[in-house]
Amino acid sequence: MARYTGPVCRICRRYGEKLMLKGDKCVTKCTLDKRPTPPGEQKAGRRRKLSDRALQLREKQKARYSYGVLEKQFVDYYEDAVRLPGVTGENLVRLLELRLDNIVHKMGFADSLKQARQVVRHGHIMLNGRKTDIPSAATRAGDVIGWTATSKKTEYFKIARENMSSKNIPGWLNVDREQMTGRVVSPPVPSERHGTFDPAVIVEYYSR
Ligand code: SF4
Repeated sequence: MARYTGPVCRICRRYGEKLMLKGDKCVTKCTLDKRPTPPGEQKAGRRRKLSDRALQLREKQKARYSYGVLEKQFVDYYEDAVRLPGVTGENLVRLLELRLDNIVHKMGFADSLKQARQVVRHGHIMLNGRKTDIPSAATRAGDVIGWTATSKKTEYFKIARENMSSKNIPGWLNVDREQMTGRVVSPPVPSERHGTFDPAVIVEYYSR
């Protein structure tokens, strides 16, 4: 299944929830406020009742869209989460949160996950002093994220640094807003996850 490249607000309308897929833009102007109906429907309040299985699938899909992850990748994350000690749902959230593109977004270096992915893909980001252009690269506590010397001279970098003062950065990340470098200080806190999905329901989905 290919990555979804259509209008992301349709996904929020389909699920009737703000999934914040446009990042900071969602805070100031949200399509769902103006058009709360599912795509293709004119009137609100006509959402049909879903079966338990459909509700589980829905949570899984919301998580996938929230992190921009393909189905196959998502299954791999789930299987890794099962193998790790602890609560599977929380492990799954941690693995998703520790993706490099998500870290770049949460550190405030990009306004959305999509933009963060692009910043990584274009080779602007250093992970522990090495240029890394793989958005799905796994980070862990202690890792340091910064910018390449060339990227620091770009207009994007200058604008991103100016905007740093307005960014809310979770406590498990430590960011030097002036230098635009950051460190993962501890494992992510599952309750501070990206998106509105319920990881326990995703575990139920895959456990059947
Ligand atoms: Fe669009 Fe963001 Fe609102 Fe979702 S939350 S409908 S992506 S503006």
